Amino acid sequence: MADISMAALTKVYPGGVRALDGIDLTIADGEFFALLGPSGCGKTTLLRTLAGLETASSGSVGIGGRDVTALPPGRRDVAMVFQDYALFPHMSVSDNIAYPLRIQKVPGATRREKAAQTAAELGLTDYLDRRPGQLSGGQQQRVALARAMACHPQVFLFDEPLSNLDARMRLEARTFLKRLQRELGVTTVFVTHDQAEALALADRIAVMESGRIRQLGTPAEVFRYPANTFVASFIGSTPMNLLDGQVAGGRIDVAGALLPVPEGLEEGLAEGEKLVYGIRPEYLGLAEGPAEGALRGAVRVVENLGSAQLVTLEGESGFVQAVVDEDRRLTPGEIGHAVPRRDRALLYRDGELLNRA
Ligand code: ATP
Repeated sequence: MADISMAALTKVYPGGVRALDGIDLTIADGEFFALLGPSGCGKTTLLRTLAGLETASSGSVGIGGRDVTALPPGRRDVAMVFQDYALFPHMSVSDNIAYPLRIQKVPGATRREKAAQTAAELGLTDYLDRRPGQLSGGQQQRVALARAMACHPQVFLFDEPLSNLDARMRLEARTFLKRLQRELGVTTVFVTHDQAEALALADRIAVMESGRIRQLGTPAEVFRYPANTFVASFIGSTPMNLLDGQVAGGRIDVAGALLPVPEGLEEGLAEGEKLVYGIRPEYLGLAEGPAEGALRGAVRVVENLGSAQLVTLEGESGFVQAVVDEDRRLTPGEIGHAVPRRDRALLYRDGELLNRA
């Protein structure tokens, strides 16, 4: 069992930056867990504190039931893969993979055998004698993974391991990583600022802001029910429309458009109270003409997404984006009527979600 537990984990850097602010979190054995958030929110600090590369200011870290808060990195049984892979340029692929085993004083022949075995699992057999500089980015990334795997750690810690790959390689490496993690069943913590990557890979995601966790949940939960407007604006490949509105006669008045109240929220809204109406562009359809409960606006920008189009309308409520069918003809300046899907609409009061999953 290699679950990870953090209790009231806090890290204040010299100079006073509170990079972690009382993190309470348990990651299950075998889980693929993503830490997601904007630059500077504390993701890397959290990962480095799990690895033992940073010392916590207060609070504790447990791995596999052991309190490791005071243990150095080498005694935590974790392997970390860095963004830049941190391979040794002067060593062969084989020696790079075997390096942690050398540190553990595993005899030479066993080391080479284990390195060759791990390399074979990752499709690196043909490259064992090459140096990292003679490999593509994707191959270097596999060498870094092989090095992490070679000593069979209890926990993998990944700090944006895909960010140096081009878009296509990145997708391939993502699928590969997910399959590998499933096969090995090693508890994995993955840091990324790419929400699509977190949604695609993780069993659960923690969305962080300013050293705190703003939401913890499965990708489906975090996507469908962002707990607050911070998470809502962060998750999703096209940002959610967050529109200022007001309760009016059993509807939400957004700049004159009377939108339906999301299911289950009809009770408990006070007439006239101010709320934020959240609807993803994917759940906003363009009607053929004027329609009841539609947001009205002039077409300003049309972006081709391949199999669909992203349309930006400008109306009384500001800018609203909708994803529409690839065949729909749209001309800049024409008036569009965007109708929200009621079963996907969200309401936020003081920035916090009112819908219940
Ligand atoms: P990024 O995505 O940009 O890597 P991050 O979410 O990983 O960001 P951290 O690197 O953990 O964020 O940084 C969290 C905060 O702590 C930031 O405000 C950062 O400036 C600060 N910080 C990080 N390392 C140090 C350090 N060694 N000394 C002082 N402050 C630091």
